[in-house]
Amino acid sequence: MASLDTKIVELQQQVEAQIEQQMRMIDGITDYNQWKVIDAFQRKQVSDFHFAGSTGYAYNDRGREVLDEVYADVFGAEAALVRPHFASGTHTIATALFGVLRPGDELLYITGKPYDTLHKVIGSPEDGTGSLRDFGIGYRETALLADGSVDWDAVKGNITASTKVIGIQRSRGYDWRSSFCIDEIADMVRRVKAIKEDVIVFVDNCYGEFTEKREPTEVGVDLMAGSLIKNPGGGLAETGGYICGKEKYVQLAAYRLTAPGIGGEVGAMLGTTRGIYQGLYMAPTIVGQAIKGSTFAAAMFAASGFVTKPAWNETRTDLIQAVQFSSAEHLIAFVQGIQRAAAVDSHVVPEPWDMPGYEHPVIMAAGTFIQGGSLELSADAPIREPYIGYMQGGLTYSHVKYGVLMALQTMKDRKLL
Ligand SMILES: *Cc1c(COP(=O)(O)O)cnc(C)c1O
Repeated sequence: MASLDTKIVELQQQVEAQIEQQMRMIDGITDYNQWKVIDAFQRKQVSDFHFAGSTGYAYNDRGREVLDEVYADVFGAEAALVRPHFASGTHTIATALFGVLRPGDELLYITGKPYDTLHKVIGSPEDGTGSLRDFGIGYRETALLADGSVDWDAVKGNITASTKVIGIQRSRGYDWRSSFCIDEIADMVRRVKAIKEDVIVFVDNCYGEFTEKREPTEVGVDLMAGSLIKNPGGGLAETGGYICGKEKYVQLAAYRLTAPGIGGEVGAMLGTTRGIYQGLYMAPTIVGQAIKGSTFAAAMFAASGFVTKPAWNETRTDLIQAVQFSSAEHLIAFVQGIQRAAAVDSHVVPEPWDMPGYEHPVIMAAGTFIQGGSLELSADAPIREPYIGYMQGGLTYSHVKYGVLMALQTMKDRKLL
């Protein structure tokens, strides 16, 4: 084990005492959500035979059907589509949007620019890629106000006769803003429906699942999507995504994933079923571990002189911890330090690279069992001013602590602290 500077160890002890109250609060949310998930399994009478795989068309795969019902129950939704066939979060979100939008319709994002990988899904007119714009689907967005809240005057001005879907991104993504908690999302639903009753409110729920006691679909959101290699996969799901919400919209998304008329009736699970079920079962507790880790990280980096978002004592609605560093060297030391603490691939040194779908070079620490799995401890940073590093996940709180300590130790070794 790498030896840690005594100052860093002292700071750790001080910070752990400081955040004790937060830890108890996180335990309360974990218990609530863990019991909620178990209750859903019980109501749907999940049994061993549901975990068996399926092949070919996989008609009547009972495990897959019940899995959809369990997800819908947990998320308070009419229906759900949970599949390993979703290749990523972006694919899942794109499937939901293409499912409900038609040529001439408009999508309006009211929480500012969406996550980087969605820009190419939205696309530009006649870009030839099969983007939304390429199919004649319009796009608008309203930037957030300086205080991070929704610009309602701009939203009112941007909702037109063509506005079909309102997009909300719960998590901060790679932006230095606050994430939107469930109460705020509930308020957004009320306000947009007061302006135009029949809009479909869509939430990109990536990183948000199980961080609070309620989910967006429990407060009036019509359609929602997320990734199984993030929160709801519990670190065990090997791939996939989920879409849930109103039955008619989930059905349309299913037609887009497979084919119109076929939808969710087919799709071999290929041995992924048990991992997806068990991952959902684990998810509330693992998310709790990760949130504890983020809280510790915020307190440690703040005590070391950096600005963090959220602060250690703020309530959380996603996994992401943003830290603003003073230089690119600090940012790189942070990411490389997290990698040094990994159980997998600790011997590799991450470097910035031009990752497909991202607009700036990105450096990523990811010593994970599931490639890119970001409920596992991982850190990313686009190399651009003002040098903000994002960390998320951690299957165990203890591992996140180790990562944060190694990040600070790496800075110390390089005379950056
Ligand atoms: C991760 C993420 C996505 C995209 O998911 P990928 O699996 O990276 O394609 C979209 N939106 C948000 C807010 C995310 O955190």
